[in-house]
Amino acid sequence: MNLQNLENNWIKEFSNPLIIAGPCSAESESQMLETAKRIKESNADVPIFRAGIWKPRTKPNGFEGVGVIGLNWLKKVKEEYGFKTATEVANAHHVAAALEADVDILWIGARSTVNPFTVQEIAEALKGTDKPVLVKNPVNPDLALWIGALERLLGQNVKNLGVLHRGFSTYQKTKYRNIPNWQIALDFKNQFPNIPMLVDPSHICGNRTGLAGIAQEALNVGYEGMMIETHCTPDEAWSDAAQQITPETLADLMQNLQVRNSDISAFDGEMGRHRTLISDLDFQLIDLLSQRMKISEKIGNLKKDNNIAIFQPERWKVITEYATQKADESGMSAEFIEKVFKAIHEESIEVQNSI
Ligand code: PEP
Ligand code: MN
Repeated sequence: MNLQNLENNWIKEFSNPLIIAGPCSAESESQMLETAKRIKESNADVPIFRAGIWKPRTKPNGFEGVGVIGLNWLKKVKEEYGFKTATEVANAHHVAAALEADVDILWIGARSTVNPFTVQEIAEALKGTDKPVLVKNPVNPDLALWIGALERLLGQNVKNLGVLHRGFSTYQKTKYRNIPNWQIALDFKNQFPNIPMLVDPSHICGNRTGLAGIAQEALNVGYEGMMIETHCTPDEAWSDAAQQITPETLADLMQNLQVRNSDISAFDGEMGRHRTLISDLDFQLIDLLSQRMKISEKIGNLKKDNNIAIFQPERWKVITEYATQKADESGMSAEFIEKVFKAIHEESIEVQNSI
C-alpha cells in the first residue's frame, strides 16, 4: 500500500464540497453550542464542526487552548446538533485524549507538519485508526515534508487521509497571512489526485475579505472541500479574531460558491490545475521580461552617454542565433521563437529610443 493507491473513500460519505466549520478555538461551552446552533439554523450544509482544543501560539503567555475540558463541549455539539467533530492534535497525549473522546476527524497543524519527530509521534499514537486524518501543509513551502508526513501516517496503517492547504509563511508583507503558493498544492494534487485536498481560506487570508475568492479558486481547481473558521461572535474571539466569520456569513459565502457539475469535475479539476500553473508561468514570464527591459534601459543609457547607435546588427544576429538554437534544443519551433524575440527586441529598441 502506498499513497498513490489509497482509496480514501471516507470523503464520499460527505456532500461535495465537504465543509468543515467552527471556531479557531473552543473557548466555553456556550460559545461552542451557540456557534453550532447558528450553523445548524443557517441551513448551510456543514457536516463537520471544528474547534481547536490545544492551540499552538507564536508567543508564550497567550491563550493556549482550553485543553481536555473542550473535548466535552465537542461531544455536546455532536449530541445536540448531529455534527461530526474535528480537532487538531500535536502530540501523543492529544491523540489519546481525542480518541478517548471519540472526536471523528483529526488534523495535524502546519506547525507540527514541519517537525518529523512530532509527526512520527502523532502517527504512532494514531496507529491503525480508521478516523480520517488531515495533514496541513508545513509552514515552509516544502512539498517533500508534506508528503513525508502522510507517509509516516500510512506507515502506521492510518489509511483515511486528506490534506489541508493553509498557505505558507513569508517574511514579506503581502495581502495574505500565509501566501497560497498554489503551485505547491497543485503539484501535490497532480501527484496524488486520489488524496482529498481541502483548502483553509481562513489561515491563508488572515482576514474576512479574501475568504470567498480563495474558496472559489480552490473549487475551480478541483479541491474537495474547505475548512473555514466560524464563530458566534468573531470580533470577540480569543484567537484569530480578524479572520473568523459568523455562521450567517458562512452560509452566504457557501451559497455564492460555484460548484461545478460533478460529472465533468474530474476533467475540470485537471484543466483548472493546468491553468493555474500556466498563469503562474505567465506571471514569471512577465516578471522576466520586465527585468530584461530594465537591463536594456541601462544599456540604452550607456549608448546614449557614449554616442553609440541603438541598433547593433551583430548583437541582433547573436540573439537570433542563440534563441533559435535554444528553441531547437527545447523542441519548439525556431520560427515561433524568432517571432517572440523580434517583438522583444523591437520593444527594447523603443525603450532605448525613448531615453
Ligand atoms: C488552526 O486551524 O486553528 C491552526 C492553528 O491552523 P494552522 O495549523 O494552519 O496554523
Ligand atoms: Mn486559527
